Amino acid sequence: MHPELLKLEKTLSPSILTKVNDAVLDKYQVELWLKRDDLLHPIISGNKWRKLKYSLNHALNSGAHTLISMGGAYSNHLHALAYTGKLLGLKTIGLIRGEPAATLTPSLLDMQAWGMELRFVSRSDYRLLRQYKQWDALPDLTAGQYWLPEGGAQTLALQGVAELVQEIDISYDTLCVACGTGATLAGLVNAVPDNVSLLGFAALKNAGFLMADVNALLARPRANWAINLDYHFGGFAKTNAELLAFMADFEARTQIPLEPVYTAKMLYGVYDLIQKQMFQPKQRIIALHTGGLQGKRPIKR
Ligand SMILES: *Cc1c(COP(=O)(O)O)cnc(C)c1O
Repeated sequence: MHPELLKLEKTLSPSILTKVNDAVLDKYQVELWLKRDDLLHPIISGNKWRKLKYSLNHALNSGAHTLISMGGAYSNHLHALAYTGKLLGLKTIGLIRGEPAATLTPSLLDMQAWGMELRFVSRSDYRLLRQYKQWDALPDLTAGQYWLPEGGAQTLALQGVAELVQEIDISYDTLCVACGTGATLAGLVNAVPDNVSLLGFAALKNAGFLMADVNALLARPRANWAINLDYHFGGFAKTNAELLAFMADFEARTQIPLEPVYTAKMLYGVYDLIQKQMFQPKQRIIALHTGGLQGKRPIKR
């Protein structure tokens, strides 16, 4: 590991495993634990650190001076990348989906303040960028420029995700995670023991393509995983009163903050499936808190 990354890793807080105490869970005789990757770092949060670690190591070791990636105006990935780039002394360029709005989001303002060059790209051009899936795949890269696909989702990302599995020191039956690109899920699928099932929850609508994307990232095909497509609440970053009420209730009961784009949808799904008795009694479920809380801030006008 590159010494600058080791230095950065030393500043991270532990991602603890906590049991959720909740009468509903007792009623259905299941245990729910949260793996709190949101606690790792206030900015380089959750799965974004896990996914970036080995890509950044590769970039640093290959002498890159500039990191280029893509994301939306609230992107947790670009937010983490801009900050990390600044810490590591690397230039960063963010290709941002859509037209520049009159008022930048808090996430974009942070990225800009940390020195990221923001380049807005049309929605159709943005979609085309998704085809470049490895660090050297973006056309017209010049020497020293390193490309990170959307969400940092390349094979190198899986190794860092595997490390979170190694931190889990209790036995468990099911591991649940929210899916955007599916790279985190792929990393977990690769790393869990054979008797553990993985359940992904798609944060976007019509996400059937995720199965192929996850398979493409996997080192070897495995049969221990599935992706539930039912809890997207109308589409990526869409919410409704029911989801927001669930999130507020959960936060009040547990004092654990969620955000509506990924973690609240995933946990809504977990609770719903528990109540539909889709989990056997005595099952121990671990849900990964992937962080992302920065994206929750409202735009200041
Ligand atoms: C990015 C993100 C995800 C999705 O991760 P993928 O690896 O793209 O599937 C889930 N949760 C949060 C909080 C995220 O920021």
